[in-house]
Amino acid sequence: MIIAIDGPAGAGKSTVCRILAEKLRFVYLDTGAMYRSVAWALSLDKTGLSGEEIADRLPRLPLVFILKDGALVILHNGEELTGQIRSMEIADEASRISRFEPVRSYLLNWQRKLGEQGDIVAEGRDTTTVVFPQAELKVFLTADLTSRVDRRRREYVLKGIDVSHDEMERRIRERDDADSKRALAPMRAAEDAIILDTSDLDIPQVVDILVEMAKDLKARG
Ligand code: C5P
Repeated sequence: MIIAIDGPAGAGKSTVCRILAEKLRFVYLDTGAMYRSVAWALSLDKTGLSGEEIADRLPRLPLVFILKDGALVILHNGEELTGQIRSMEIADEASRISRFEPVRSYLLNWQRKLGEQGDIVAEGRDTTTVVFPQAELKVFLTADLTSRVDRRRREYVLKGIDVSHDEMERRIRERDDADSKRALAPMRAAEDAIILDTSDLDIPQVVDILVEMAKDLKARG
């Protein structure tokens, strides 16, 4: 079974999907981390690369994506990538490079290959529309801008990164705008996706709703 969940930055997708996958004993596939890892790996060489420069470098990127113990592991030259892809700068660069076709098809290949490996919860911007349009359960997870800014800011503050509300709001607005207006695989709710507004819900409540949806689907065969 494939559960695909898309939505804007700060909607709580990552935390919700990680817990959901654990509860269902599914694999959690964080496709945003894949875009971040490409942005990070390319930026070792140079930041702000053009589409052509990226297309040239992509086939030689020493990145490998595997599923291990229920989650995605990203290896760069055999070393696991973790915290280094979680900065605000890498998030912005991931969004910038995600509009280029070679990047999208490179990662689409990997994502579909990983998706063949059984029960997964995939999360990102185009998992319901492009990567896994056949997913049994599709959800567009969203929340109002203030809730999303507050949540994202709290995450950074916990990591010791101080960022003002205004700065966080600007970054989230710009990223959502770029992600939803790009020509290729723009972020949008698939026609058959369930739209879930999490503004007034906490993480356990969202997880419970999704667990029920998945169980319901399974029971109906
Ligand atoms: O979800 P996360 O914030 O880690 O994603 C980083 C960026 O990667 C997004 O802003 C988006 O531009 C890109 N992305 C994408 N398609 C996906 C997942 C992420 O274009 N399926």
